[in-house]
Parts: sequence; structure tokens; C-alpha cells
Amino acid sequence: MDTVQAKILDGKKAASVIKEGLKARISKLPEGGRPGLAVVLVGEDPASKVYVGQKEKASVEVGINSFVHKLPAGTTQPELLALIEDLNCDPRVHGILVQLPLPEGFDADAVISAIHPEKDVDGFHAVNVGRLWTGGRAVEPCTPKGIMALLDSTGIELKGLNAVVIGRSNIVGKPISAMLLSRHCTLTICHSRTKDLPSAVRGGDIVVAAVGRPNFVTGDMIKQGAIVIDVGINRVGGKLAGDVEFESASQKASWITPVPGGVGPMTIVMLMKNTLELAGIKQTPGT
Ligand code: NAD
Repeated sequence: MDTVQAKILDGKKAASVIKEGLKARISKLPEGGRPGLAVVLVGEDPASKVYVGQKEKASVEVGINSFVHKLPAGTTQPELLALIEDLNCDPRVHGILVQLPLPEGFDADAVISAIHPEKDVDGFHAVNVGRLWTGGRAVEPCTPKGIMALLDSTGIELKGLNAVVIGRSNIVGKPISAMLLSRHCTLTICHSRTKDLPSAVRGGDIVVAAVGRPNFVTGDMIKQGAIVIDVGINRVGGKLAGDVEFESASQKASWITPVPGGVGPMTIVMLMKNTLELAGIKQTPGT
């Protein structure tokens, strides 16, 4: 077997370059013209608290006005919907994000539907999902948008490549599938009921793993020279592990994302980029 060490798709570095571009752009805006991002957290989920903290920190760092609303676990759905309505009408707020998962008892679909599609910074509203699949001007969900930026950073022409997406969630699997299709990839979507997943993955010039199972994709499933994007964030013995077995996969891939430091940092910076785009602020070329 040829053993070629894959090049690393460094999401941390790529995200920091994009972040600097956004920061420079925002710094030129008048104080009153800054974009605003509202993040709503309901309840005490520890992981959600960490994610909201990261989003707040990143907003402040690039100069986005951050409005964090922390609601107690006892909040009712009508109370949450009323807050979203206020944010929909607030001219200082250009992007609204409700941290998921919501506590039990909330209807997440109804909550997402209540966000105005033009403030739906996560791109989860059905209007934006529809636009994404029909080729309209959609707000692109942050993780898939970050993945596409990483793929583009390789300089490889995506048109006509076989792309295999593992996972079909609304947050990652489905939207990245729509985006790869819109870039003229030939698409295979694998999921929990797929028969013979390894042979499907072996056909991939691009493999995107968004499963949530540590080391699920192994090197023997990877086509020589494939680009491997590992979306998974799994905690194994206090350490982070991706969905891809890095050691074996990097012997076959041409490019591979590490975990941590791959897709994760790109997700946050794309949230910032989406906020600017929703505020109607043009970016400098290359950001
Ligand atoms: P999810 O649980 O909603 O979806 C997982 C998908 O994997 C499902 O569609 C399911 O069909 C598929 N699946 C499960 N078992 C399978 C199997 N045995 N064979 C084939 N497919 C199988 O998860 P998600 O929200 O899409 O997230 C996936 C992973 O990505 C998680 O580890 C999550 O933490 C991570 N994630 C990372 C980021 C980031 O910014 N890096 C963002 C979102 C999610």
C-alpha cells in the first residue's frame, strides 16, 4: 500500500485569517452601524453554555454587538416566542440564534419558524433550507459553510467529484449535501440504515463524516487521494476525537481535517460572517 501523509486542512488557521478580515471590515464601520448578533440560551445544559460563551467571545473579538439572552429552564414556549418577536423587530439585531437543543417540552421547529428568515443566522428556517436546495439566496448553515471554505482552500476543482456524506442531520448532513450538489459533485448520502457503508465511502473523492461516533471511518474505507472532512466532536476519556480514525485515514487521504482544529473553528467564524452578511455589510475580497 502506498503510504502518503495527507496535508492538514488547518481550520484554526483558516478561521483566524477570515476573522481578521471581518474584524478589519467592522472596525471601519461607525459605532451605530455595527452588526448585532442575539444568542438565546434556555436552561442550564453545560455544553450549550460553553457554545454560547464561545459565540459571545468571538462576537466581541470581531466587533459584533453581542446580545446574549439567558432564560431559565422554567421559561415557557410563549415567553420564548415573545422574545424572538422582540428580536425580530429590534433594528440593532441582524442575526438571531437559539441555542439547540432546547429543553424538553419546547417545539424546536416552531421556535426556528418564529425567527425571521432574514435574521436566521444559522440558516435553519424552512425558507432558508428551501432556498439552499433550490439554488436561491439562502443563509447557509455555519458548519457546512465552513466545510465548503476548507474544501475551496485546497484549490481543487470540486465539479464532477464523487462526494460521500455520512450523516443526514438538518444541521450538517443535509445542508452540506445541498451545497456539494450545487457545486456539481456527484453525491452519495450514507446514514444509519445504509447497507455496506464502507464500499460507499470507498467511492468518495470527498468524504464528509458527520456521525457522532469516534473513529467510525477508518483508513481502509478511504480512497487513495480523497479529501477527508471530519465534522465529529466526540469526547473519549476526557479528550476530543473525531468521527475519522486520523492515523489510518491520513495515510490514504490527500487532505484531512484534524479534530480539534478543523471544522470546529470554521463553524464559529462562519456565524460571524453570516451576521455581517445579514447586516448587509460587504466583505473585503478573500474574507
Ligand atoms: P446527529 O446525531 O443529528 O446525526 C448523526 C447522523 O449520523 C444521522 O443522520 C445518522 O443517520 C448518522 N448515523 C448514525 N449512526 C450511523 C451509522 N452507524 N452508520 C451511518 N450513519 C450513522 O448529529 P449531527 O448534529 O449531524 O452531528 C454529527 C457530529 O458532528 C457530532 O459529533 C457533532 O458533535 C458534530 N458536530 C460538529 C460541529 C462542528 O462545528 N465541528 C457542528 C455540528 C455537529
